[in-house]
Amino acid sequence: MVRENLELVEQKIQAACQRAHRERSEVTLVAVSKTKPVSMIQEAYDSGIRVFGENKVQELCGKYDLLPDDIQWHMIGHLQRNKVKYLIGKTVLIHSIDSLRLAQAIQDEAAKKKTIVDILLEVNAAEEESKFGLAPSEVLPLAEQIAQFPNIRIKGLMTVAPFTEDPEDNRKYFRTLKQLAVDINDKNIDNVHVNILSMGMTNDYEVAVEEGATMIRVGTGIFGERDYHV
Ligand SMILES: *Cc1c(COP(=O)(O)O)cnc(C)c1O
Repeated sequence: MVRENLELVEQKIQAACQRAHRERSEVTLVAVSKTKPVSMIQEAYDSGIRVFGENKVQELCGKYDLLPDDIQWHMIGHLQRNKVKYLIGKTVLIHSIDSLRLAQAIQDEAAKKKTIVDILLEVNAAEEESKFGLAPSEVLPLAEQIAQFPNIRIKGLMTVAPFTEDPEDNRKYFRTLKQLAVDINDKNIDNVHVNILSMGMTNDYEVAVEEGATMIRVGTGIFGERDYHV
């Protein structure tokens, strides 16, 4: 099932790239494997997928130990400062930085481990009450502060768009993220290069690709519905 789903997702990505006159190579598919068993991840791996996203530190670390070394793990979920120490060294990109305190915790741990950590700033583009992430107006000031940290590299922006029936409703939020990236890059802040736009999930990744997403995070569309009650 995973292999067939991946083929369908791949076709849709390619079609969206064509509509937007973009190269397929500009878009990285992050297979969101949270709550899913190692066997399903292995099936995706065997179909050629190497980039996986998890939203819990403990789950990511457990799967990291069980699965092949050449997987690139992305942390896409809300991150608590006291868990940072378990994560550094196991993930290639953290998508969900939304405070200076969290960035400071990452800086401290990265310095201790003598490594550099690549991050995205999470933006609550629709300014929903219930969501994590920065308001659009907070992004540039925080980017300027985090730019001072020698062991953190800001690589881009991430957003989780609202849940909607019609993916067209989210187009404006993807445009907001793209515009924010342009604005930040125009400031030419040392150590900040916003090249990654992580936006679009199962319901809206085609629209996100049309609007410039360079990373899409697809879970349900690859692995099927999640069951949180098991
Ligand atoms: C779960 C999750 C996804 C994937 O959602 P689907 O709708 O299943 O594709 C993407 N991004 C984040 C941050 C998530 O937590």
